[in-house]
Amino acid sequence: MTGARAAGHDRVRLAPPDTVVEIARVLTEAGFETWCVGGAVRDALLGEAHLDWDLATAATPADVRRLFRRTVPVGIEFGTVGVLDPGNAMHEVTTFRRDVKTDGRHAEVEFGVSLDDDLARRDFTINAIAYNPLGGELRDPFGGQRDLEARVVRAVGDPEARMREDRLRALRAIRFAARFGFEIESATWRAVADSAPFTTRLSRERVKQEIEKTMQQVRYAGRAIALWRESGVLAALIPTLANVTDVTLRSLDLLPPPAAHRKPDREVQRLVALMADLGGRDAERALHDLRFPNKTVSWVGSVLRGWAVIGDDVRRALGELGGPTDAALRRWAGATGRTRARAVWRLGAVRFGAERQLGQPAPPASAVASAYRREMRIAFRDPVEIGDLAVDGVDLLAAGIAPGPGMKAVLEHLLDYVLENPTRNTRDALLARAAIVGSR
Ligand code: ATP
Ligand code: MG
Repeated sequence: MTGARAAGHDRVRLAPPDTVVEIARVLTEAGFETWCVGGAVRDALLGEAHLDWDLATAATPADVRRLFRRTVPVGIEFGTVGVLDPGNAMHEVTTFRRDVKTDGRHAEVEFGVSLDDDLARRDFTINAIAYNPLGGELRDPFGGQRDLEARVVRAVGDPEARMREDRLRALRAIRFAARFGFEIESATWRAVADSAPFTTRLSRERVKQEIEKTMQQVRYAGRAIALWRESGVLAALIPTLANVTDVTLRSLDLLPPPAAHRKPDREVQRLVALMADLGGRDAERALHDLRFPNKTVSWVGSVLRGWAVIGDDVRRALGELGGPTDAALRRWAGATGRTRARAVWRLGAVRFGAERQLGQPAPPASAVASAYRREMRIAFRDPVEIGDLAVDGVDLLAAGIAPGPGMKAVLEHLLDYVLENPTRNTRDALLARAAIVGSR
């Protein structure tokens, strides 16, 4: 990009909020050089919005706390102080620092260094650009703007050394590449792949956070996981997923990210899709190992089990003329449970979609959409679960049926009877039926 044009252009896009400029002004007027750094500068140069404008400053954390009335010591040992603006939004202000010791998990930092030192400790060139919101100057000692233009993720400095310092950078390289549709520069990529066996030393929480950020931020999350697979990171971190299929990766690409957290269940939906090559148990084990909350673990497991039960049937019925019968739709809703039906179908729909894209035979999208709509209507209208029956265990007990497994069998038989034809779901009809089957 040429200087003059770029400058004019960048000033428009590099527009941090007034509150951030104001913080920079206070620090600068007190004699402390202060710059916008990191993701916000990168995203602004890419023309994308970014909410958190982080500041880096020559001021020490003590200076920052002295200069602003309302601060929060968010990461004081690393030099980060949160400054609250009049609207109570917090902005992170971090003292220029150098990492003096890293063991891949913890960093020990040293203050009293220059902006360039601070930029040098950052992971990728595209993340190591500083912008002075007062003067409008860009500081870019590692060619971050050039790499943004070339759409390349490149380590700052020696890639092998940088990843040895912190193996999380291997996962971050992949996430940024997939998020922006960038290539990973070849030496950086070699360092990512060489890092794979060592990623097991990362805390499970950091790994989980990377997976979450990938599901939240990356439009084509399948591309990120493909790079996890290709680099060996997947085999190291989630061995049961080492050979994740292309259908799974493609299905992940068909599920949109949660759109700035306005639709959080989309993140879980993407986890379901990611785990779909595994059975419910293995998926639960993998997610549990990664410290996902129990609620998420069991939801993913139950959706996968639901699809395992109905998937083959669905595929067959959608291939037949006229599509599934109402009775089949009720059975499916009953088998997955009505509350999981939507998630199970969404999984099925993206897997079929992925198969079609990969040239494999799968039911057409229109058949999937129409059966899905019909099932949703039916699932919330008709009796599909034992709890929906017009009789319960107490009624059957009163009718002389012994409690225990026999009772359960009768209830299941009655459900079957009702799934076939929901008008049978009356107390009289079911008690009469129970009298016949219960005595067998
Ligand atoms: P995101 O949109 O995901 O928040 P980001 O670039 O803001 O992207 P953060 O994790 O918030 O990423 O980190 C802020 C900045 O701190 C990065 O841009 C980078 O300069 C630096 N940084 C973060 N993590 C590391 C790391 N592990 N190694 C080196 N530098 C890092
Ligand atoms: Mg950030």
